[in-house]
Amino acid sequence: MQANILTKLKQLSVNNLLPHAILLSDPDAAITADLCQQFAQYLLCIAKIKVDNTLAACGQCKSCILFAAGTHLDFLSIAPSESGTTHTIKIEAVREVVNFVSIQAQFSTYKVVVITGVQYLNTHAVNALLKTLEEPPPRTILLLTTINHNLLLPTFLSRCTVFALKSQDYGHNALVQHLELDLQELLVKKTTQVIAIAAKWSKYKAIEVADGLWLILYGMVRDLSIGKSVNLLAPGQHFSVLWPILEQVTKIKELLCAGRPVNIQLCLEALLIDWRNKANVG
Ligand SMILES: [Zn+2]
Repeated sequence: MQANILTKLKQLSVNNLLPHAILLSDPDAAITADLCQQFAQYLLCIAKIKVDNTLAACGQCKSCILFAAGTHLDFLSIAPSESGTTHTIKIEAVREVVNFVSIQAQFSTYKVVVITGVQYLNTHAVNALLKTLEEPPPRTILLLTTINHNLLLPTFLSRCTVFALKSQDYGHNALVQHLELDLQELLVKKTTQVIAIAAKWSKYKAIEVADGLWLILYGMVRDLSIGKSVNLLAPGQHFSVLWPILEQVTKIKELLCAGRPVNIQLCLEALLIDWRNKANVG
């Protein structure tokens, strides 16, 4: 699938049909980041070669050498910054992008900007990026990645061409629906207890529970940020109150992916207690 998308993008660029804002969406952030690197190098290469009947970056021209050294003047890569346990792409980083695209390309045909993890753009950063996203200078390509494009704001999404590597229609994910129903019982109807839910969830596959919770939380962040109400949180709460819960979920995912031992029931209990406190405020 990864190779297919790369081939498709290359074809679009050969035919001069490349969209200027390309959003690569896949739950595996490493895959989309890798695709961006490959395609950016390809776009910037000034001596493309034919491999198996398709064009590829040569790996030897000045552009490829500078790209490999991380010093290419026509390439900018932005990733979320970490402060403590929180990830965010701040407005300063977006300003850097806006400045970068305003300068003419130095020696490649294109200027390429990669922004990984656009779900971490804060509201100010999204607003600052919208104009560039809609109408970047000619020969400027923005390569963006996200773990799930369904979680992005419509204003942002409508300005990108989405390439989803896998189907991500989480609304039809049965486990996510189960988790949501349980959260309703716990946080809204208050007909069950944290311990009972944690015990039930710890019988599911831990990584799937973590992924499901992550999607639910991000869906809430998205809804709150466009003024929609959500019922799994006390009224009037800002979506930023969900960051600590999201960080707990991310931590669990990281531990599981690293093969570390995780007491999933205890982790889920802590997370649910935190969430319940936020749902009961006021
Ligand atoms: Zn090259």
